[in-house]
Amino acid sequence: SRIPLTVLGTGAMGTALVRAWLAAGHPVTVWNRTPARAEALAAEGATVAPTAAAAVAANRLVIACLLDDASVGEALDGADLTGRDLVNLTTGTPAQGRARAAWAEERGARFLDGGIMAVPPMIGEPDSGAYVFYSGSSALFEEHRDTLAVPAGTRWAGEDAGFAALHDVALLSAMTGMFAGVLHAFALIRHEDVAPKDFAPLLSGWLTAMAPAVHKAAEQLEAGDYGLDVVSNLAMQVAGNATLLRTAEEQQVSSELLTPYMDLMERRLAEGHGEEDTTGVVELLDLRRGKD
Ligand code: NDP
Repeated sequence: SRIPLTVLGTGAMGTALVRAWLAAGHPVTVWNRTPARAEALAAEGATVAPTAAAAVAANRLVIACLLDDASVGEALDGADLTGRDLVNLTTGTPAQGRARAAWAEERGARFLDGGIMAVPPMIGEPDSGAYVFYSGSSALFEEHRDTLAVPAGTRWAGEDAGFAALHDVALLSAMTGMFAGVLHAFALIRHEDVAPKDFAPLLSGWLTAMAPAVHKAAEQLEAGDYGLDVVSNLAMQVAGNATLLRTAEEQQVSSELLTPYMDLMERRLAEGHGEEDTTGVVELLDLRRGKD
């Protein structure tokens, strides 16, 4: 039989998680701050608890999927966590994950932090590529791994409870830069006779073709040598940036999404690293540099 569990928070993501567990035959107790948002799930077989404390009391395995870390503290204030297995799928920072782990352990619970790498429609779809980073109690993870694997794949990020958030936010940060570039590209073609729907597959194909460059950057970081196997050196790339900026100007598109990165590339070049790869820009991002 499937183990019963509690889900706190039936927003877009919480609802998708609950549906996946219900579909797999798990008895699910739900709680949401705004009760109306949990009602649809009652019709689908979930038990709606009147308070977060009651929802926590109902099952040993408790999943929280709320807006942010502060809402987890608010929702669980006054709930008895003794003997519970708390899995926090609320997006937060590494420090918040570590603090929340200590907070849960002080209250007698085992704790796992999670970072969901998916949007709600990908949840419960085995071929969607959806997965969740988990960090914290490995005992909790091992015991509940099959249940946790129902809505999305599972990836262990380490005993340090901050590591799920660290991995999650690092990937989200890379995505942010990628989408910034995508919007700049669409802005360039926007007022021309180029249909966005025709341009999109070119954009997607190019980003996919460039993605393996992350492995080269990793090798350079591991070797501590930004000059290792350089294909397109920094001096050449900075020269190329001038063409990108001039095109933006011709197309009357603001270059504000590009210039922060280009400024860093120029600074690195000015420091004498023209023969290296752009990977060396990480040195300029490192705020610990020169502090110890
Ligand atoms: P929603 O905005 O749809 O839902 C937010 C949930 O948090 C609601 O249940 C809301 O309750 C609850 N909530 C907000 N503040 C409080 C509070 N102070 N006390 C108690 N409950 C509170 O967000 P999602 O479901 O989309 O996101 C939930 C988490 O999942 C977030 O951390 C998000 O980053 C993460 N996530 C979401 C993804 C997405 O694409 N949607 C992708 C990956 C991660 P109420 O209904 O009462 O407002």
